Parts: sequence; C-alpha cells; structure tokens
Amino acid sequence: MTTIADRISIAQSQIAQAAHNCSRNSDEITLLAVSKTKPISAMIEAYQAGQRCFGENYVQEGEEKVLSLKEHYSDIEWHFIGPLQSNKSRIIAEHFDWMHTLSRDKIAKRLNEQRPSDKQPLQVCIQVNISEEVSKSGALVDEVAAIAKTISALPNLNLRGLMAIPTATTDITIQQAEFAKLQRLYLLLQSDYPQMDTLSMGMSNDLSVAIEHGSTMVRIGTAIFGARDYP
Ligand SMILES: *Cc1c(COP(=O)(O)O)cnc(C)c1O
Repeated sequence: MTTIADRISIAQSQIAQAAHNCSRNSDEITLLAVSKTKPISAMIEAYQAGQRCFGENYVQEGEEKVLSLKEHYSDIEWHFIGPLQSNKSRIIAEHFDWMHTLSRDKIAKRLNEQRPSDKQPLQVCIQVNISEEVSKSGALVDEVAAIAKTISALPNLNLRGLMAIPTATTDITIQQAEFAKLQRLYLLLQSDYPQMDTLSMGMSNDLSVAIEHGSTMVRIGTAIFGARDYP
C-alpha cells in the first residue's frame, strides 16, 4: 500500500521529470497539496513528509482546519482555491495566506478592507476563465487587465499571478491551447506588474502540459490523498 508520503514523492518526481523535459528548473514549481474534504490527520501525514503548501476549497472547512493546525504547524502556507461569495470574504482575509480565485473588484476591495493589519498582505491570483464557457467562474481574458489594476492599488493585497481551471478533457491539443493562452496573458501582464511570479495551473492529469507552458504551481489532490467521497 502506498502512503501519503510515497504519493507526495511520486508527485515531486513527476514535476521534476516534466520540468526536465522542457529544460526548466523544478525549484520554480511548487506542489500545492489539495486537501479539501480530507481529514486533519491526512494533512499532518503530508506535513510530516515535508509538505507545507495546502489548498482548500470550502470556506468553513478551511477555517476549521486553519484553526486546528495553526498553533503546532505554524509554517503551513494556506491557499484558498475554491469559489468565494462576497459575504464569506472575511474568513479568507483573516485566515489564509493566498487566494487563487479572485475575479471580481468587489471581492478584492472587501478582502483588502478585511485583511488584519498584523498580517502580511494576502497573496492573490486572478482566476481566468480560459475556456470562456459561460458556466465557468473566473474573469474573461478581456477583463483581466482592469482587475489587475484594481488589485495592484490595494495595499493589503499582493498580485502574484494568474490561475485557471481548464476544460476537463484528455485532448492534449485543447489542453495545450488553453495553457498557452494563460501563459501569453501572464507574460503580457508581467510587463506592467513585474512582481507577478505565479502561474497556478495544472492538476494530476495535465501536469506536464501545464509545466511545459510555464506553470509555477500545480494543484494536486486525489493523487496525494486518494479519491474524495464528495466533490
Ligand atoms: C479539487 C481541485 C484540485 C485538485 O484536483 P484533483 O483532481 O483531486 O487533483 C485542483 N484545483 C482546484 C481548483 C480544485 O478545486
């Protein structure tokens, strides 16, 4: 039976292999362990295997986990990667280090106001709807520059990059086209916001294509923690 530690090390070697294949340094790529729906005990197991960055999707579950781990595991970096309603923004502002799914000015302003003054600025990525499907969340490509401008004027938010959830497909041509699109947008924005250093894209099944297109953070859940009982 493989353990969580084994699976983290497998994920790390897949990242290293993918980086090697496109002549990138694997140190540029962070493994974000997506622990949504998984118990604290599984997170501690990952922590003991050296994992420090964790991604959560649900506000209340995320808050509970931060509160129970922050005392003894204070160097965990908490990333919020789920959809956020504006009435829940305070919880994210108060407890998380990173927010990957920002795509509305209104929520950016709330997070800025609600960020406690004794904390570092909240590190944010703009979520981009690269497939342009109406049902998907994220800003449309044309809207991203305006949101970036709003965020960069807010002192308690630090614009770090872009994030996307591509179309669920095994068609490599579609995967490549979508990742290439996000990468182009990222490189373009970097000339206005040189502090941007994060391209949050790639999950278990499309990790190498994402890394080929410049991903600096891959978000992996199932391959580390096993299948989830609910989505
Ligand atoms: C759940 C989730 C992941 C991880 O997905 P797996 O298929 O379990 O690896 C990555 N990114 C986001 C935004 C997610 O919601």
